[in-house]
Order: sequence, then C-alpha cells, then structure tokens
Amino acid sequence: MSILNLFKIGIGPSSSHTVGPMIIAKNFCTLTKELNYFQDITRIKIELYGSLGSTGIGHQSDVAIILGLLGNLPKTVDTDNIEETIKNIKTTSSIKLLNEQTIHFSIKEDLVLHQKKYLPYHPNGIKLTIYNKNKELFSKVYYSIGGGEVISEDEIDLEKKENKKPLPYDFSNAKELLEKCRKNKLTIAELILENEKVYKTENEIEESLLEIWQVMQTCVNNGLKSDGILPGGLKVPKRAFKMHEKLKNTRTIDPLAFVDWINLYALAVNEENASGKRVVTAPTNGAAGIIPAVLHYIINFLVKKENKEQVVINFLLTAGAIGLLYQRNASISGADVGCQGEVGVACSMAAAGMAEFLGASIEQIENAAEIAMEHNLGLTCDPIGGLVQIPCIERNAMAAMKAVNAARMALNEDGKHYVSLDSVIKTMYDTGKDMQNKYKETSKGGLAVHYVEC
Ligand code: SF4
Repeated sequence: MSILNLFKIGIGPSSSHTVGPMIIAKNFCTLTKELNYFQDITRIKIELYGSLGSTGIGHQSDVAIILGLLGNLPKTVDTDNIEETIKNIKTTSSIKLLNEQTIHFSIKEDLVLHQKKYLPYHPNGIKLTIYNKNKELFSKVYYSIGGGEVISEDEIDLEKKENKKPLPYDFSNAKELLEKCRKNKLTIAELILENEKVYKTENEIEESLLEIWQVMQTCVNNGLKSDGILPGGLKVPKRAFKMHEKLKNTRTIDPLAFVDWINLYALAVNEENASGKRVVTAPTNGAAGIIPAVLHYIINFLVKKENKEQVVINFLLTAGAIGLLYQRNASISGADVGCQGEVGVACSMAAAGMAEFLGASIEQIENAAEIAMEHNLGLTCDPIGGLVQIPCIERNAMAAMKAVNAARMALNEDGKHYVSLDSVIKTMYDTGKDMQNKYKETSKGGLAVHYVEC
C-alpha cells in the first residue's frame, strides 16, 4: 500500500459512503463495456447493504452512485452542478450511462437501500445488476472498505494471495517499522519515501504530496468564506465563516489563542465536507479536518524560515506511515470499527506528523501516535440523521487539539512507554469488532437516537 492511497482527493461527505460508491458505480459501468454488455443494457439496479443501506441517504451514497453511473470520479466531478444533475434525472426518469447511453432510470425503484441486510465481507456492500428488458445480463458485488478504497467480491481472495511489489523496507507493524529505521539510520519519513519510490519517482511523490496540501489549503479557504446552513435538513449553521471574521479582528495576549485557530481550520474543512465539496480523505472524509488543521497550525504559526514544502512533505510521510499501520492491522472504516477508526486514526496520524515537525525521535513519534489513539479508544459512530455533521464536525476540532497535545506529551518523555502503538492498534480493532452495530455508522444508537429536536 502506498500512503497516497490514504490521502485521496475526493468529495464530501463520506469516503466510504460517497467516494467509494461513486468509484464502484463507474468501475461497474466500465466493466460492462469491457464485457460487451453495455449496448444491451435497458435497466440497471443498485442495491446498498448494511451501513450503506442505513445511512446512505444522509451520506449522499445515492447521489454518489448516480454520479458514478454518469461516468464521474470523485477527484474531478464538478461539485457545483450536482444538484442540477440529480434534478434532471428525477424529472426525466432517465440516466446517460458513462455519458454515452441513455436508459430509463427511477431513483425510487432502481436504487434500493436495504436497512437490515448485510453482505458477508464488509458492512458497506453494493450489488449492481444490469438487465436487457427483464433478462438479467450480469451482476457483481463490491465493497467500500473505508477511506475511498473499494474491492470487488472476486478481488477479495486475490488480495490475500497477491504477490505485491517488494518494498526496500517492508514492515508489518510499528515494532518492525522502528527496527528498520534504527538499523538503516532513517527517519520514518525517509523510510516511507524510499518505499514510495517503488511506485513513483521522488519528484512525482513530492508533487503528489504538495498537490494534496494544495487541495487541503483550498478546502480551508473555501470553508472560511462559506456562510449559511449545512445541507441535509438538520439546519446546522456553518460556524467557520463567523468565527474567522471574529478571530482575524481580535487582538489578544491569551497564549492559548492558537487553539481557536486549530478549531477553525478543522471546522472549515468539515463544513466543506458536509456540504459535498472537494476534500482530501485523511484518511477518511468524516475525519478529513484533523490533519489539515494541525498542518495549517504548523505552517501558519510555527514555521519561520524553514522550507515550508519540506515540512509538509515530512509531515505527510510520517502521518502516512502511521495510517498504513492502521489500515494493515485494523480498519479505517467507521462502519467496521466505529469512529475510533476514522477520527481516532486521523488523530494518531496527525500526532505523529506534529511530533516529527517538533523534532521527535522515532520512539517519541510512535509514542505520540499511541497516546492519540489510546484516548480515542471506544469512540462510537452515531451521526445524527445519518449526516456527517453532528458530532463529526466538532469532533474533528477536538481531535486536532488532542493530536497536538499527544505530540507535546511525547516530546516531554524519552520515547519509552507502557503501551506500544501495536498494542493500541490491536485494542482499537478488537474494541471495534466487539462494538454493537448500532454504534457503527448505522445511526441506530447513541447521539443519533437521543437527539431531541427543539
Ligand atoms: S461519527 Fe465519526 S465515523 Fe461516524 S460519520 Fe461522523 S466522523 Fe465518520
């Protein structure tokens, strides 16, 4: 796995429920072309299972699938025309598959959300079937497994057997990562860069990381300029715009004033995400605000003369290393392990990146990542109304500050600590597996059911 898979440029509000489903719909249509079914399709039926069935409407999975059927991808889809496109499909009861072939399409009948049925491999399952009149031509099951990653049913076993490209410094857990860094006298960022060179040249890697940073900055700037109410029906007011107006006009000697700015950056990103705008999965959309908030704090408040681009690159390489450990040994899907797998993982990644910037040793970086996750263990996913708004937006701000604190705590120690990062990753995964389904992106428990409309 490349760390660039953890930082995908996409759209809100969810990497597993919006980005993944859009890619799946596009991949399926392209496959029907390759198999020579495309010209015979007269109907397409899409069924969403498990968490996708429960929170698919709030997470805009239906919209994402339609955009994918039309041939769009999350990185390039025009976010300004989505409403108009959906309205048009509803009015005409038709859809132009891959923008080439028009067929009858009823959102109500052809896009089915199963609230209580699950497919076997993962809670986010999608089955797509094509027909010629009433005859079924072809059907395939896919899974959106978190962070915008997707897998088809026939790739599951392949994935297990696959002979991956050998990496110069392969590692399967944090202990091995640190051992390889020590043995080869590399920082975590340097080791990851060497591994990434298996996929891309050094220039290409740096360009990709700086492009990710550019999108993060644009996202924060757009969030700061955007006022009003978030879509979805909860009528949640956006806060970043007004907060920014206040902060930029406030003079203060309060040494903790930077906290307001970290909160602000996170709110800006997550309000953009909740509005279906362009964000970077870091490592998911629901948790997209934490890494940009900490990185904006570093660049805007702490970097003086250093090369800002190198600071960003080292931060993302280090944070990415930690993300890979969670992806490999646990899960980054809220539907799989609750919010500890999204906000918890992003917090852990950001703490590692922050510690790296502060000049931490590799042991202190591992400690920072561990502290950050240790205090997110058990965090449930219970978004009100199935929307990625409450508690998600504010939770990103809280986690960004927790990441900064975890890094600072680790810096004040010598790197030796009781619970290893590997242990906390395993604990997170086991806790997630023990968690009842109602706390895993189904909106059937927690805040989602105890919220009373005033
Ligand atoms: S509660 Fe956490 S995991 Fe669930 S939708 Fe919100 S951010 Fe994502």
